[in-house]
Amino acid sequence: CGIVGYVGSRGSVDVLIGGLKRLEYRGYDSAGVAVIDADGHLDTRKHAGKLAVLTDDLSATPLADGVTGIGHTRWATHGGPTDENAHPHLGDGGKLALIHNGIIENFGELKEELLASGHEFSSQTDSEVAALLVGDAYRETGDLTTAMLQVVNRLEGAFTLLAVHSDQPDVVVGARRNSPLVIGLGEGENFLGSDVAAFVAYTKQAMEIGQDQLVTIRPDSVEVIGFDGAPVEAKTFEVDWDA
Ligand code: GLU
Repeated sequence: CGIVGYVGSRGSVDVLIGGLKRLEYRGYDSAGVAVIDADGHLDTRKHAGKLAVLTDDLSATPLADGVTGIGHTRWATHGGPTDENAHPHLGDGGKLALIHNGIIENFGELKEELLASGHEFSSQTDSEVAALLVGDAYRETGDLTTAMLQVVNRLEGAFTLLAVHSDQPDVVVGARRNSPLVIGLGEGENFLGSDVAAFVAYTKQAMEIGQDQLVTIRPDSVEVIGFDGAPVEAKTFEVDWDA
């Protein structure tokens, strides 16, 4: 129910948890983060329950911090509120992490296809099909933006998706269809959020993403394209409320 993404030079775990706290008002039953650390390893931590369950675990056993990551609060629609069903979900043998808000309506047929090609599932969610599909597409294309673009065109329903891959440690790719996503523009850092509350503590400069559009953020660049692959001239705006 809440989504945060970050690329820059701050410790991403703090940025992600801070963003998720600001999105708590939307309601949720589970929370999780994925971070790519300085050595290019991707690690995730996720739990059913309040954010405090996640933050207590992170305090007891910290993740190797990094400067790229994604964070999620879940409002379960497919599969109960368990640790396994919490996001992020993994693809490409654990090198890719993906979070999803919304519902993938054709997940049943996609799941059959993935099972037939030998994939195993770790959750009961609709979202995990997207993680596995983007992981497979990454293996074929070697580029996260291209991989996401291929997969979003196969998905039906409502979704905000964010993904990171350890082979592209300074990139977060996001996509939206019938579901919210906003870009936060920083100096040498950029943010994604399901609403501006996710990043308003760091920047008031924001950029709109339209429906059926996909965004690739790096520390020094933001690129928006349509689901048809064509570049989009996105509008910037100033967030006019105090953090
Ligand atoms: N449908 C997904 C799930 O049940 C995402 C739910 C959400 O929007 O948080 O895991």
